[in-house]
Amino acid sequence: MSHFGNCIFCKIAAGAIPSSKVYEDDELFAFHDIKPWAPVHFLIIPRTHIPSMAQVEPGHAALLGRMMVLAPKLAMEQGCNPYPAGGFRILVNTGAEGGQDVHHLHIHVMGGARPWLKG
Ligand code: 5GP
Ligand code: ZN
Repeated sequence: MSHFGNCIFCKIAAGAIPSSKVYEDDELFAFHDIKPWAPVHFLIIPRTHIPSMAQVEPGHAALLGRMMVLAPKLAMEQGCNPYPAGGFRILVNTGAEGGQDVHHLHIHVMGGARPWLKG
């Protein structure tokens, strides 16, 4: 077993599993969702393993802030149309009842012309 445990998003951030990369820096990694719901659909994750929003602490404030500031910039780069006629959706599923399947914190960023597959 590798030092990533069983976390697929830790492996993606480390490049141990291939992905279609959108962005990376020393703290964050972004990549296209493998099953997109919308013409633009990518995920932004912290490199550090935080299971979900339920484990977020005050010390994570700057990291979460960076994720939220990055989202609109990447949304435009990836082809979302400009606000207000265009725009994008940010979604963070949390826990089983919140619809979370992968337990490494990630924000979905979705956009592009309607209709979408979901939402
Ligand atoms: P959740 O339901 O946890 O909020 O969303 C997990 C998302 O990760 C899903 O939209 C799913 O399509 C995506 N996903 C799961 N495994 C992989 C993978 O191996 N590669 C990529 N690019 N996306 C994945
Ligand atoms: Zn992880």
